Amino acid sequence: MEWQGRRESDNVDDRRGIGGTGLALGGCATVLAVIVCLVFGIDPRVVLQGGGGSAPISSRQPASPQAQEQAKRFVAVVLADTEDVWNEQFRKMGRQYQEPRLVLFSGRVQSACGFASDAVGPFYCPEDSQVYIDLSFFEDLKSRFRAPGDFAQAYVIAHEIGHHVQKQLGYSQRVHAQKSRVSPTEYNRLSVRLELQADFLAGVWAHHAQKTKNILQPGDLDEALRAANAIGDDRLQRQSRGYVVPDAFTHGTSSQRARWFRLGYETGNAKLMEELFARPYNEL
Ligand SMILES: [Zn+2]
Repeated sequence: MEWQGRRESDNVDDRRGIGGTGLALGGCATVLAVIVCLVFGIDPRVVLQGGGGSAPISSRQPASPQAQEQAKRFVAVVLADTEDVWNEQFRKMGRQYQEPRLVLFSGRVQSACGFASDAVGPFYCPEDSQVYIDLSFFEDLKSRFRAPGDFAQAYVIAHEIGHHVQKQLGYSQRVHAQKSRVSPTEYNRLSVRLELQADFLAGVWAHHAQKTKNILQPGDLDEALRAANAIGDDRLQRQSRGYVVPDAFTHGTSSQRARWFRLGYETGNAKLMEELFARPYNEL
């Protein structure tokens, strides 16, 4: 991906090395957090809970300071790219895009959605409209998920920003409102729709970023598709349990994730996001 020398967003909040306070805000948000994306597929209720102390701390080797600085600049450039695209797309819809902030953390962090450790992977907290990313996740993407490449990382950031777009357009609230009205299985299905929609929006972002800035290098699209594939629920479940439990899906299968990202990339048409809620579930 061509990213050097382009605008870096001012909306990055670097909290690396600060750590959380251990005083979780309790209650509010674990429910919301469940739906708002944990790329890793780990049940966030395990991680986004009060207290701290018991949260697993990563044993990963930290990257060199230079590599971390480089990664931070990369994140700031991708965030700026999402701002440019979504400002324009919202303008076309006759709305105004509220740019989210992105918090870089290491180890653990306090969000309005609860206390999180880096084990959860990147997530979006709708309560404070912030994306949270631990840079060591990119290392996991490369080694644990075998999805290397900077555009794989950009896809993950764009997916989280997609959750912010959904919140502003009312999709997240639409799903949350169903929580107490539908069965857990049906709620998981709504969650899958929301996650696939975020993948679709990441594709829409890539389409417009490519059109306006020519950011893609050969192989970039494959990097993103590989990442979307690697973090599908079916594959993650097979790895962790050895079998697949479709009713427990919250993010969609590997092929669904790749398909919706690709559709977003090929069409660039944000209006198609309604499709994710209009189509029968077995046609996603
Ligand atoms: Zn997500």
